[in-house]
Amino acid sequence: MLESALPSQAVIREKQSIDTTILVTIKVENEPVGSENRTPEGKKNSFDFIRAIINEDIRNNKRGGRVHTRFPPEPNGYLHIGHAKSICLNFGIAAEYSGLCNLRFDDTNPTKEEVEYVDSIKEDVRWLGFDWDDREYYASDYFQQLHDFAVRLIKGGKAYVDSLTAEEIREYRGTLTEPGKNSPFRDRSVEENLELFEGMRSGKFKEGEHVLRAKIDMGSPNMNMRDPTIYRIRYAPHHRTGSTWCIYPMYDYAHPLSDAIEGISHSICTLEFENNRPLYDWFIAQLDFKEPPQQIEFARLNLSHTIMSKRKLLQLVQEAVVSGWDDPRMPTLSGMRRRGYTAEAIRAFAERVGVSKTNSTVDLSFLEYFIREDLNKRAPRVMAVLRPLKLIIENYPEGEFEELEAENNPEDPAAGSRTLPFGRVLYIEQEDFREDPPKKYFRLSPGREVRLKHAYYVTCTGVAKDERTGEILEVHCSYDPDTRGGWSEDGRKIRGTLHWVSAAHALDAEIRLYDVLFSRENPDEVGDFKDALNPNSLEVLKDAKVEPSLNGTEPGARYQFLRQGYFCVDPDSRENRLVFNQTVTLRDTWAKIEKSLQGGEQEGD
Ligand code: ATP
Ligand code: MG
Repeated sequence: MLESALPSQAVIREKQSIDTTILVTIKVENEPVGSENRTPEGKKNSFDFIRAIINEDIRNNKRGGRVHTRFPPEPNGYLHIGHAKSICLNFGIAAEYSGLCNLRFDDTNPTKEEVEYVDSIKEDVRWLGFDWDDREYYASDYFQQLHDFAVRLIKGGKAYVDSLTAEEIREYRGTLTEPGKNSPFRDRSVEENLELFEGMRSGKFKEGEHVLRAKIDMGSPNMNMRDPTIYRIRYAPHHRTGSTWCIYPMYDYAHPLSDAIEGISHSICTLEFENNRPLYDWFIAQLDFKEPPQQIEFARLNLSHTIMSKRKLLQLVQEAVVSGWDDPRMPTLSGMRRRGYTAEAIRAFAERVGVSKTNSTVDLSFLEYFIREDLNKRAPRVMAVLRPLKLIIENYPEGEFEELEAENNPEDPAAGSRTLPFGRVLYIEQEDFREDPPKKYFRLSPGREVRLKHAYYVTCTGVAKDERTGEILEVHCSYDPDTRGGWSEDGRKIRGTLHWVSAAHALDAEIRLYDVLFSRENPDEVGDFKDALNPNSLEVLKDAKVEPSLNGTEPGARYQFLRQGYFCVDPDSRENRLVFNQTVTLRDTWAKIEKSLQGGEQEGD
C-alpha cells in the first residue's frame, strides 16, 4: 500500500481496532524528498543521487570499487531523528554495496564532549540495528598524526603561526563582498613557524596567543579558503587524551584527514558543508593521499514542530523544560525509544524520506504514519480506561464473574487470545457517556444500547449523581445475556462499541499523554525557540485502569489500547503501579477526523 499511496498528499485508509475505517491525511511539506529518486538536475533516476555517484565510481573502478562510509557524530549530545537519517544512509549504503561503515567520534573539542554521550551514541546506533564491528574510531586517536601532518604543511610553506588576536583575525578575514587582508605574520619563515608551533604544543603560550593557519588565499571568494585556522591552544583536559595535548585541531582540518586516514571512499555530510568542500579537498591534496575520499552533501532532515540543534536540546535538558535527554517528547532516539518508537519504524521512515539536495521540512504526521503501520502489525490489543467512570450492570448478579475470550491482535492470528474477567461493576471512559448526547453521538446515553467489546450489549437505564455538584458518579445499565461475545443472533444494529475493564480486577496505572513539544511548525522562526514551546505537551492521567492481563508487563512493552492509540510501558513503572507513555494516537486528532469525514456519520465509533 505504501509504495503506491504516498505522494506528497496521500490519503491513507487506516483500519482501526473497532470496526472503524478512518481517513488520515499524510502531508509532506514540499516534495517528499528523494522519494522519486531524482538526480540533482531533476531527472528521474532509479537511484538517488548519492547511489548514482557510487554506481559511477564502481563502474570506473575508482578506488578499486571500494565503498567505505562513516558516521561521524560529535559526542556533545544525544542522537536525534536527524542523525538517524544519516546513520541509515551511511550504514545502509555500506550494506547495500558490501562495503564498510565506521563509527567515528569527532571528538576534537575537549570542552563540550563527555563519555556519557559516547555511550549513549553507541547504544542508539546499535538499537537502530547497525553494527560497526571493531571499527570504533575517535578523531582523538589521530591527534599525533594530525599534528605531524601540520608540521608537514608548515615545512611545505602551506601553514603558518599567526599571532593576531581572534578579533583581528575576524577583521582581516573580510566579508562576503570584500576580500580579506594578509596577516602581518603570514610570511614568517618555516623555521620560525616550526619553533612557534612546537611552543604552542609544549604549552609555552597562553590560550589565544597564537594559532596555526593554513596558507591558502585571503582573496578567495570562498570565505572558508581565507587561511582557515587549523590549530588553537586550549588548556582543557580531553575525555580520552587527558592533558597530553594543549593544542586541538579544528573540525575542518581534522575531518577530511580522519576520513583519509581511515580510507573512507564517500564522505556523506549535510548541505551546510558544501562551501567547505574546496577546503576538504585542499587538505587532502596537500598531503597526497592515494585514494582520496569524496565529500557528498545531502539535505538534512527537518521535522515540523521539532528542533534538532543539539545545543538547543541540551538547553531544554539543563533548564529542566523536559525530564532529560530521554524525555518521550524529545526528538532524540532515546526519547523516541522510551516513547515506544521501534527501530523498524524509524528505519522505514528514513528510507522513505530519502535523500535530496534541497532543504525541506517533513511533517511530523509522516513520521507518525510509520510507527502506526509498524505497531498495528505487532502490538497486542488490550483495554485500558484512561478517565474512568463506573458502569453498574443492574441485572448482573453481585459477586459473580465470568471469563470472556478476546483476540490479541486481529492483524496477527498467531498472536492468539486471552481471557478478560467480566462482572457487575466495570469502568468505562468518561467521554463514552453523555446524558444529553449531541447529534451523531453513538456511544452510551440514557435508553441507548451499545456493545461492550468482547462482552455483551448493554442498555443505559440511568445515572447516579452527586447531589450537591451534579457530577455523574455512576452509569447504570442492564445487559442482554444472549449477546455474549458482543453480537446478537437477531442482528440488531448497534452503532457504538466501548472498551471497558472489570472494576474488581483492573490494575491502577498512570498514563502520560503527549502532544507536540513545540506549537509552532518551525520553532526556530521566533526569536527565542522556547517561546514556541507547547505548554500542554504533557498530560498525566493518574487514575487510569488497565486490564489485569497487563500484570507483570515489563518496561519497553508496547500495546494498542483499544480506541486510544499505542502505548509503551515506562521504566518509571513500579509494582502495583504501571506507567505508560502514549506513543501515538490511532488517528491524528479528533478534529481532523471530523473534518475529513465532513459531517459524515461516526459509524461504529
Ligand atoms: P549540531 O550542529 O546540532 O551540533 P551536528 O549536525 O553537527 O549537530 P554531529 O554530531 O556533527 O551533529 O552529526 C553527526 C552526523 O549526523 C553528521 O554527519 C551530520 O551531518 C549528521 N546529521 C546531523 N543532523 C542531521 C539531520 N538533521 N539530518 C541528517 N543528518 C544529520
Ligand atoms: Mg557537526
